[in-house]
Amino acid sequence: MSRIWIRGGRVLDPAVELDARVDVLVEDGRIAAFGDDLAPTGAERIDADGCWVMPGFVDLHTHLREPGQEYKEDIASGGRAAAAGGFTAVACMANTNPVNDDPSVTDFILDRARQDAPVRVYPVAAATRGLRGETMTEMVALAAAGAVAFSDDGQTIMNSGVMRRVLEYSRLVGAPVIVHAEDRTLVGEGVVNEGPVSTRLGLPGNPAVAESVCVARDLMLAEATGAHLHVGHVSTAAAVELIRAARGRGVHVTAEVTPHHLALTDEATLGYDTNTKMAPPLRSAADVRACRRALADGTIDAVATDHAPHAVHEKEVDFAEAPNGIIGLETAVPVVLELVRAGELTPLEWVRRMATNPARILKRPGGRLAVGTTADVVVVDPERRWTYDPAKGFSKSRNSPWAGQEMVGRAVVTIVDGRLVYHVDRGVLA
Ligand SMILES: [Zn+2]
Repeated sequence: MSRIWIRGGRVLDPAVELDARVDVLVEDGRIAAFGDDLAPTGAERIDADGCWVMPGFVDLHTHLREPGQEYKEDIASGGRAAAAGGFTAVACMANTNPVNDDPSVTDFILDRARQDAPVRVYPVAAATRGLRGETMTEMVALAAAGAVAFSDDGQTIMNSGVMRRVLEYSRLVGAPVIVHAEDRTLVGEGVVNEGPVSTRLGLPGNPAVAESVCVARDLMLAEATGAHLHVGHVSTAAAVELIRAARGRGVHVTAEVTPHHLALTDEATLGYDTNTKMAPPLRSAADVRACRRALADGTIDAVATDHAPHAVHEKEVDFAEAPNGIIGLETAVPVVLELVRAGELTPLEWVRRMATNPARILKRPGGRLAVGTTADVVVVDPERRWTYDPAKGFSKSRNSPWAGQEMVGRAVVTIVDGRLVYHVDRGVLA
């Protein structure tokens, strides 16, 4: 019998609006008890004074790069980075090599995750063969193999007829369709947000309307089909307004925003640092404000990292040539906690967007701490100061705009299925 006694922490469970200082006992993979007088025998004791004890975070949007690009990341290293960041589950995107458009690839990912990853891994399967946006994948077979959602992330399904059929079939399997909403004909060669910053940089701009046009279409198709549309990495005020209006008329839409789109504006790209290049690009201050407000008022349901590892040599090129994306699993906690410190989110609402809502969107367990439920738990020290050094992190890649910066707040303990998989002083343990 394995026991973990988490004592002295502030327990936050958005599922039942619990916010109280109480001890937690984990036993044989489950939350066994809450109380002030537990003093169990033979338990590993975690001192959580000054810390928050919460359901483990669930990342809706991770690129684990395996199979095919293991020099950037693999399921083991990405899983370790997730555990160190406080995540107990990650949904991994389909743009691997081969693409996860076949049940054999889904099987491979799940097998590898069971052997190598300290956290739960939920494969997201491609919506179309080879992410080419032409022919639908076998959604029923992929869902049977364990795919939790469908997405051509990285690519937009530009053919509206194909997108409509993808949404229709997704209803049969009851899984969301996650969209990377960028109209490619409007993005063109754009590599930074179109506006004063792109002009100053002398780089081609990617306009905000490239996102909103696509979100508008997908919302209308979701409305027509009754499917569950999940908008990945929302970055513009216009997309936020469209989602808010659609939800108001009953469209089944959920949405996520990344830590970087909450924390950084396009001005961060002024130094041509390729670790500020991503798709969608960092946007204007007004867009960032709109995304923060939407996360606070619930229009955007969740924070998702869009953890996108790339090797050093791939990012050490001209801005226009560099691949899109940054790593994010190990920095999400301090970056998003800034909204809590700014008074824009309560701690309880923060956890709802990191754990409870993502679990609900994927229809997976987790996101709550009730007695009897599976013990996926994170302990965060919201005041802990540390300097982020990607070279000392668990991801194989280092492409982060926060490298070398002092951070406030850190995941200090991660428990998956009742097992201690990460301790800040001892590293990843599984
Ligand atoms: Zn994407």
